[in-house]
Amino acid sequence: MTVAVPPLAQSLDSPDWTLLRNLGIGLVVVLWLATAYWTFKDARRRIEDPWLIALATLIGLFPPFLGPIIYMFFRPPEYLQDARERELEIKAMEERLAQLDQRCPVCRARVEPSYLVCPVCTTRLKQACPSCAQPLESLWQVCPYCATEIPPSLPALEDLAPRPRRTTRRTKASD
Ligand SMILES: [Zn+2]
Ligand SMILES: [Zn+2]
Repeated sequence: MTVAVPPLAQSLDSPDWTLLRNLGIGLVVVLWLATAYWTFKDARRRIEDPWLIALATLIGLFPPFLGPIIYMFFRPPEYLQDARERELEIKAMEERLAQLDQRCPVCRARVEPSYLVCPVCTTRLKQACPSCAQPLESLWQVCPYCATEIPPSLPALEDLAPRPRRTTRRTKASD
């Protein structure tokens, strides 16, 4: 079995080797562009400023392969989507807390959602349901506790207005 082994110099010049070399270069270039594209995609999800995204993409391109690693050291730690969701969650939590922390519109005393009248300044806070006596919100058209329809004539919002004759002015005058 005699296989002609060509000398090294000859094999480098052969068409087979050229093809292999070109394939290798092509693969490296594709890999390089892919890492740069990944950098661009990742930056777009983390950075809002288009100039900074362009800068990150540039770093992803140059230096090749090292750039994306450098970018990973400096990229923002979280996705924009996550940051927005967290902001919404915080806002919702604040709203829930604000609902828990209800205050009398007149004297700012803390009141429970079930209070009909402010215990400090006697301001009317809510109407009681005519059927089951549960406290009703001013916008409700039907009692959610007993399904009684609430006549729209009930002066709900007016009750939230200050009542001068019953406010703390009287206690001040008596001091
Ligand atoms: Zn009050
Ligand atoms: Zn009711």
